[in-house]
Amino acid sequence: MYINSIKESVTEIRKSLPAGVVLVAAAKTRSPEEVQAAIDAGIKILGYNYLQEAERIYQIIGNKVQWHMIGHLQRNKVKIAVDLFDMIETIDSVKLAEEVNKRCAAISKIMPVLIEINSGKELNKTGVLPEDVDKLVKPISSLPNLRVQGLMTMGPRFGSPEDARQYFKATKLAFDRLSKAGIHNVEMRYLSMGMSNSYKVAIEEGANIVRVGTKLFGERSYPKY
Ligand SMILES: *Cc1c(COP(=O)(O)O)cnc(C)c1O
Repeated sequence: MYINSIKESVTEIRKSLPAGVVLVAAAKTRSPEEVQAAIDAGIKILGYNYLQEAERIYQIIGNKVQWHMIGHLQRNKVKIAVDLFDMIETIDSVKLAEEVNKRCAAISKIMPVLIEINSGKELNKTGVLPEDVDKLVKPISSLPNLRVQGLMTMGPRFGSPEDARQYFKATKLAFDRLSKAGIHNVEMRYLSMGMSNSYKVAIEEGANIVRVGTKLFGERSYPKY
């Protein structure tokens, strides 16, 4: 996509978002020039699915923006990931959380994390089922170098954004339940839901982080999930 149309898309979407909704540019497969264009137009957070790709772009862009991990994080990559990322949106097991805690402790870093919810209850999908999140959050809450700050979900992919609504609702329900539970060291501040085709519905259902790729940068030449 031409650099100018990226700047226009970013500007348009930023203007359309209600106050308090944070825009994460889902930047997988985009060139450094495309990413820089988005930053020039006001993007402050980049989301990456793969550590290696994030590292490569980080060499060029650096820490003038924030970096969110939005893909599945492998435990053997945590050491590098905690150095690079400012938030990990995809914690879905105690084991992964413990590894993040250990690696953060080693570099004296406190890592904000979101718990990933498998709201579509899809087999082979990462994330914890909405009804199981409470019992995952309890042990994670005692890890001193992690701060649970909310929930994230992908939801199944549909043509119609309306079809995603029920999964956003299910995630919001878990979010509200955890807010009320008042667990020490756990704060339900961020609800990260919605992508290019569904972010408006997600905001209606309570999202305050949206992760948008295609609508900012154009179609990806190959889908990489
Ligand atoms: C790619 C991706 C997005 C953005 O998807 P688009 O449809 O391109 O907006 C959001 N979240 C995650 C986890 C992604 O991998």
